[in-house]
Amino acid sequence: MLDAVIVGAGFAGMYMLHRLRGLGLTARVFEAGRGVGGTWYWNRYPGARCDVESMDYSYSFSDELQQEWHWTERYAAQPEILKYANHVADRFDLRRDIRFEARVTAAVFDEVERVWRVETDRGDRVAARFCIMATGCLSDAQVPDFEGLETFEGKWYHTGRWPHEGVDFAGRRVGVIGTGSSAIQSIPLIAKQAAHLYVFQRTPNYSMPAHNAPLDPEYERRVKATYADFRHQARESRVGFVVDRSGDSALAVSPEEREREYETRWNRGGLGFSAAYTDLLTSRDANDTAADFFRAKIRSIVRDPAVADLLCPKDYPIGTKRLCVDTDYYATFNRDNVTLVDVKKNPIETITPKGVRVAGVEYAVDDLVFATGFDAMTGALLNIDIRGRGGRTLAAEWAGGPRTYLGLTVAGFPNLFMITGPGSPSVLSNMIVSIEQHVDWIAGCVTHLRERGVAAIEATPEAQAAWVQHVNDVGHMTLYPLAPSWYMGANIPGKPRVFMPYIGGVGVYRQKCDEVAAKGYEGFALGG
Ligand SMILES: Cc1cc2nc3c(=O)[nH]c(=O)nc-3n(C[C@H](O)[C@H](O)[C@H](O)COP(=O)(O)OP(=O)(O)OC[C@H]3O[C@@H](n4cnc5c(N)ncnc54)[C@H](O)[C@@H]3O)c2cc1C
Repeated sequence: MLDAVIVGAGFAGMYMLHRLRGLGLTARVFEAGRGVGGTWYWNRYPGARCDVESMDYSYSFSDELQQEWHWTERYAAQPEILKYANHVADRFDLRRDIRFEARVTAAVFDEVERVWRVETDRGDRVAARFCIMATGCLSDAQVPDFEGLETFEGKWYHTGRWPHEGVDFAGRRVGVIGTGSSAIQSIPLIAKQAAHLYVFQRTPNYSMPAHNAPLDPEYERRVKATYADFRHQARESRVGFVVDRSGDSALAVSPEEREREYETRWNRGGLGFSAAYTDLLTSRDANDTAADFFRAKIRSIVRDPAVADLLCPKDYPIGTKRLCVDTDYYATFNRDNVTLVDVKKNPIETITPKGVRVAGVEYAVDDLVFATGFDAMTGALLNIDIRGRGGRTLAAEWAGGPRTYLGLTVAGFPNLFMITGPGSPSVLSNMIVSIEQHVDWIAGCVTHLRERGVAAIEATPEAQAAWVQHVNDVGHMTLYPLAPSWYMGANIPGKPRVFMPYIGGVGVYRQKCDEVAAKGYEGFALGG
């Protein structure tokens, strides 16, 4: 019997394996893909890139690793991040405990033996004391159920399942469906290649310029000289990396000063924009000032006023859907070979053999790209038949939305852990920081049990109910629930509308988890 099964070999599964090995435990990782890297293994679309700066978006657990690795750009592109993941796998000799091309289909708790029995689609059957889900928040790619897709005579792709050999769009008419982060990254590059690009937009997004550039060697040197402190600040921060955070209300300063501040942040680029004022995500009036600034920017870049108007988000506060980061996204709509098609007013009627029909008009395309995102946070977990005590299924327990204790565990499912599960900061943070925190916490918990000869740990229903309430209360103190976002499950028909991540902040959350551990795992029942 194994000590642990880990599902997924992205950054979460890889570090979990390394950490458990360090404790002298036996672990096996099952990974559906053919290689490590998770997100960065699957998302190979043109322009795929990290929105968090390279020096922040990397493991901190090994000083040798962070000192020896050299990032080439301010924001790393997918191939470089994948190379990094492979480097880590080699450097720490991870592959010998990873079974690739094996998708976990079931994980069932055996109450008599107190073990998890895990099965894969390749016929593996293993038993383990602990089952750790490192399945990813954004790994269950979604293609909406469009009528007629099966009749389409061209080729179609999903950004999150991009062919490894790449796709050549030269001379072809391409349709991109969706305008979220992956679309915003890929559209400028596809437009440069394609004969014509149709962008089918339901909801426009707010996107910041990346101002990407080669990594400044002086900056790299400075960070590497003080990496311990740099990492410490990131761990204690709100979002897992340090941004220049103001202590003022947007409404307490003059319009001129506000404009200056927004302009400075726009010119700096990246995700720090939302930190310009303390109340941008809690006051609609404050938020409107930032949204107005953005809309004016879009109108100043896009020459056709009707197209600019369509690109301006108007129905939800800025920052409440994931803020995007782009290179030349809005300017791409000035190209003669790019057409924006509004599918909010008139939704896509059908995919035809030759293209996409909207409001009676057929847009002829050779290739279709679905940039339609993921069944976020819960999709990959619920794809697995997970059964806990008394045969209860995770699917039934979460029918009304995910319920967890700390985003790490679920009542009724002893010795089952999730890395960056719903109810933790996860997708609202620099995810590598959140992953490392969860992995370290789980490692600490397993050590605690082992030292005391305790066979099982399980969240109590009361602690879970209180945590769910807290996550909900904090979420509803913000403007986030106002947007029909994937944070709310709104991109998946029929998914319960619940604000899934914990908005309380990475530093605050870490403190809460540490307190729970320091109090002998408060809110958990330890037994056997
Ligand atoms: C396009 C894109 C851009 C992103 N940009 C950023 C960013 O800028 N900053 C940031 O912090 N985060 C970003 N993220 C989030 C990103 O997912 C995380 O940063 C991080 O890579 C997650 O690592 P993970 O190991 O938790 O999950 P993943 O990387 O998703 O890995 C999960 C792995 O589990 C495997 N798996 C799932 N289910 C099963 C199963 N049943 N059996 C076997 N294997 C299974 C999957 O194949 C996958 O390889 C981005 C995500 C996407 C999709």
